[in-house]
Amino acid sequence: MFKSAAIKITVWYLSIIMLVSIIFSVALYRVSSNDLGRNINRQVSYFDDLLSPFDRDNYSHIRMQQLNQDQRHLRDNLISLNILVLIVGGLVSYALARRTLQPIEESLEAQKRFASDASHELRTPLTAMQSEIEVALRDPKITKTEALELLGSNLEEVGKLRGLSEGLLKLANQDGNSKLNQAVSLKDAASTAIDRLSKAAEAKAILIKKSLKEANVLGDEHNLTELTAILVDNAIKYSPSGSRINVVTGKQNKQAFIRVQDFGQGIAASDLPRIFERFYRADTSRTKNQTDGYGLGLALAKKIAERHGGHIEVQSAVGKGSTFTVYLPAI
Ligand code: ADP
Repeated sequence: MFKSAAIKITVWYLSIIMLVSIIFSVALYRVSSNDLGRNINRQVSYFDDLLSPFDRDNYSHIRMQQLNQDQRHLRDNLISLNILVLIVGGLVSYALARRTLQPIEESLEAQKRFASDASHELRTPLTAMQSEIEVALRDPKITKTEALELLGSNLEEVGKLRGLSEGLLKLANQDGNSKLNQAVSLKDAASTAIDRLSKAAEAKAILIKKSLKEANVLGDEHNLTELTAILVDNAIKYSPSGSRINVVTGKQNKQAFIRVQDFGQGIAASDLPRIFERFYRADTSRTKNQTDGYGLGLALAKKIAERHGGHIEVQSAVGKGSTFTVYLPAI
């Protein structure tokens, strides 16, 4: 599809280039021919008095032949030039057309990948629910307790589906170009995020130690709170009960930062480059299969940071813990 679009654009570009080139060539040919003709007439009249009528005719005939030759030369040169313009213009136009279409092609490709990843993830809980319901329906002697158990398990899958679709929606919304022109205090954003997760931390007897200094950035408060919440939520999820989490905000060389440090399971070096990918979950969490999640949190966090002109750095050691630091341009 993009190849044929590129060819169509090339044809358009080339038509415009050739139209301009041909108009210029015709104009140049006319002007130059007229000039040559005028020169010859001037030269012939100059010799009028010096030559005999016979010589004058001969001279004029020779000059006319020269004029025709010069005009032919000029025409051939202009035709060669236009052929060159056609070839070079065609190549340059095609390269330009491909370059123009490349970002559109990439974004379409990303959308396709997103849709296929999402449907793949949605299929798993749906298939689980479908098979459970089918087995139950085929059993004529199903008891009320079994039916309730089935409903409970289905409800769990529905909860997963809801969480997944919410995550996907948040990720998709980050592609929008809403204005990021609010002055946001990272101190407040971190405080709100921590408050939101205090129950989850309490449930695991995890202590969240705050060291929040003022640091302001331009952006969207809701998004930045969400970003901090993702990091704190992960720190809680991947830390053992009774451990500690440090959350720090501040400013460093014109950069505002949020740092979330935990002393939990850590991330293997081989997983580190991939944890920000959509739906990626490191093996340890997958095999243990104890923690909720779809591998969307860090992908969303990265997108939010990048939309705000920042980035996320991570340091981690297995068994020792992880430190995630978000750097954003301070105001
Ligand atoms: P989720 O937590 O829903 O699985 P994320 O995108 O938030 O998805 O994280 C991707 C993966 O990165 C997680 O599955 C986990 O393996 C790893 N991870 C993220 N944060 C931490 C952390 N603080 N400690 C250890 N592993 C982490």
